[in-house]
Amino acid sequence: MDKIDFRSDTVTKPTAGMLDAMMSAKVGDDVFGEDETVNALEEKLAALFNMEAALFCPSGTMSNQIAIKCFTQPMDEVICDQTAHVYRYEGGGIAYNSMASVRLLNGERGILTPEMIEPEINAENIHYPNSSLVVLENTVNKGGGKCYTLSQIEPIHNLCAIKGIKLHLDGARIFNALVATGDKAKDYGKYFDGISVCLSKGLGAPVGSVLLSSKATIKKATRIRKVLGGGMRQAGFLAAAGIYALDNNVNRLAEDYKHAKALGDALSKTNYVNSVMPVETNIVLFDVSPGLKADNVVKALEAKGILCNSTSNQTIRLVTHLDISSTMVDKAIDILTHLHL
Ligand SMILES: *Cc1c(COP(=O)(O)O)cnc(C)c1O
Repeated sequence: MDKIDFRSDTVTKPTAGMLDAMMSAKVGDDVFGEDETVNALEEKLAALFNMEAALFCPSGTMSNQIAIKCFTQPMDEVICDQTAHVYRYEGGGIAYNSMASVRLLNGERGILTPEMIEPEINAENIHYPNSSLVVLENTVNKGGGKCYTLSQIEPIHNLCAIKGIKLHLDGARIFNALVATGDKAKDYGKYFDGISVCLSKGLGAPVGSVLLSSKATIKKATRIRKVLGGGMRQAGFLAAAGIYALDNNVNRLAEDYKHAKALGDALSKTNYVNSVMPVETNIVLFDVSPGLKADNVVKALEAKGILCNSTSNQTIRLVTHLDISSTMVDKAIDILTHLHL
């Protein structure tokens, strides 16, 4: 039997409907700005989030790195949580691409507050790097899919506005946050200078991320994307998957949360699990009992048909997504409940 794959919400494969949409896409050379499907995706997302303009990029990493490059100068400093994807999982890109330093904060499961950020903003002084950008992540990957609400974001925006600092959102899983909190996408635009949105996570597209910002920033971002080698030609075949995902795969994210909660509940009742982080969206993070090693538990689960990853010596992550059905979740719960270590 096929293994049940909880390693990441990036493992989804395009459905027949998505493939049909891709194959019938109208395309052109997007480096010339002539791919009407790419243009339609960019316009759709910009309008949805109430931002002026958008840029289709090959990956979330590229969207984030372009945004950071747009919003900083060499010798500046980026403020973010110590678990932030832009810092931990983008290969040192902030240093390499933007020549900026990073100030790391200890958020609560990755969630920052204005009170945490304000003291870390440097005063104007030649000794200090210039604090020019704050990056938030929603949902927080390493925080077990924890969400910011807009009411938490507003005071951070206000602080950044007063201090003349740009605010970027790593929204790799922003739709997960919107479905969980009930906040509206159109209310996001006014709080952020840049937002990156992933289409290849829980939304089920094979490739793609979109950077949203002002017209002037997107003009600059288009140049940086070209320099990074991200100028794509008939990319409308990929953008069509993104449009299909936005039209079909957003509301169903709630199902992923039901699945994740059920898995979390089952895990919390087992004797090999020490604690399960409260499940808010589609990520389940749990610590194995003292004396056990996460890697060994992962191997034992794989032998029983469940794929997942350890994220530290003690911690394991399960992620639910479009290709995980209720039947698979029931089966997985049976395996998790009866696992003997
Ligand atoms: C996955 C992810 C990204 C982007 O990753 P890519 O693999 O480059 O598309 C960015 N931020 C977060 C929080 C992510 O989980």
